[in-house]
Amino acid sequence: MMKWYKKLHWQIIIGMVLGLLWGLSASVLGFVEFTQGYIRPFGTIFIDLLKLIAVPLVLVSLVVGVASLNDVTKLSRMGGKTVAIYMVTTIFAITIGLTVVNILNPGGTLPDETRATLIESYSENVEGRGDAAAAVQDRTFLDFFVDIVPENFFEAASDNTNMLQVVFIALLLGIGLINIPAQKGQPLINVFESLNDVIIKIVDLIMKTAPYGVFALMAAVIVDLTGDDLGQALVLLRALGWYCIAVLIGLMLHVTIVYTTLFKMFSSMKLRDFFKAIQPAILLGFSTSSSLATLPVTMERVEKNLGVKEEVSSFVLPVGATINMDGTSLYQAVAAVFIAQALGMDLTIAQQLTIVLTATAASIGAAGVPGAGIIMLVIVLQSVQVPIEGIALILGVDRILDMARTAVNITGDAAVSVAVAHTEGKLGELHFDDE
Ligand code: ASP
Repeated sequence: MMKWYKKLHWQIIIGMVLGLLWGLSASVLGFVEFTQGYIRPFGTIFIDLLKLIAVPLVLVSLVVGVASLNDVTKLSRMGGKTVAIYMVTTIFAITIGLTVVNILNPGGTLPDETRATLIESYSENVEGRGDAAAAVQDRTFLDFFVDIVPENFFEAASDNTNMLQVVFIALLLGIGLINIPAQKGQPLINVFESLNDVIIKIVDLIMKTAPYGVFALMAAVIVDLTGDDLGQALVLLRALGWYCIAVLIGLMLHVTIVYTTLFKMFSSMKLRDFFKAIQPAILLGFSTSSSLATLPVTMERVEKNLGVKEEVSSFVLPVGATINMDGTSLYQAVAAVFIAQALGMDLTIAQQLTIVLTATAASIGAAGVPGAGIIMLVIVLQSVQVPIEGIALILGVDRILDMARTAVNITGDAAVSVAVAHTEGKLGELHFDDE
């Protein structure tokens, strides 16, 4: 049996803890600038490598997946199922978030003085977020579909946040391949299959550097948060402690209740085994705060370790990384109500129901990149007439909560892929490769 510290997830955890310690020491001992200039770049390189591989991986593996289906009706059935489960889990997430924040009432206990200081220190950073959200808000339901269809292949492939366009292109290519004579399609399928293997090998290679990348990312996040004044950061954390706890409790409840139920209903997988098989992806989501950057690793773990067949994972996961964000939607519900509570506003049941609708839309609209959730929060706040200036209250701790909600976003995508695969008869054996 492999020594524990040689297992990838432990190495990533060690990297994270050392990064955290480094960041804290840098803040106290005064090498914040050194950390920003000479440690952070390694984290950036690591994330860029993952992002670099995301579009080609989605394109190639989805073409291979669709081509192996032989039948387009299977694809539309799978698509319908995926979107339906994504929506239901998101609505549960928001409901859990609303329940927790109403019970704990973290905003009600925020001292007036703290509220005034937070608004004063962060209000500048709120400006501009309203515009970004307004651009999304002005769009109609059909615009969502208009956006999925690209007018140019290279443009679609040139931006990682256009993942649904890449999925669309891959579906077209795959469907085209199914519909031409087999002997004509086979050479192209062979090319895609071998490219797919190459890309998966590259993901493996990148993951070998994950402990170092994660170390650098954690160190950078901590110095961003603390700057030269660790004491100040601790004061901030204490002031917003109940709010953070409400978000974290909500996320934990969601993972344990909703995903356990999902597994019970749609597969025989145990939550514990699920986590054991997929943990490097979740840890990476936590360290990078980006579902999109983590996507290549999520795909690899879901296929290799959870046993989900490629024809399911290559569709369910990229779509999920773009539209399914259970962690983000739950956080948006807690944040919106917290801000209302802190500003002394009582939200009615009707307003809380409005939050269910708008947080669903806002989480679909949020890109899988760091900080996207708080931009889309503007839409939720506006829908219940809570002043968006209130975002200043929560900005200071957002990066930490972003890490936690991203980990849940990724967990949700992987859990749904297991459920869809099981119902489609496409779930193989679990595999714990570190043993
Ligand atoms: N960072 C999150 C993600 O990539 C989105 C968010 O900001 O909530 O999944």
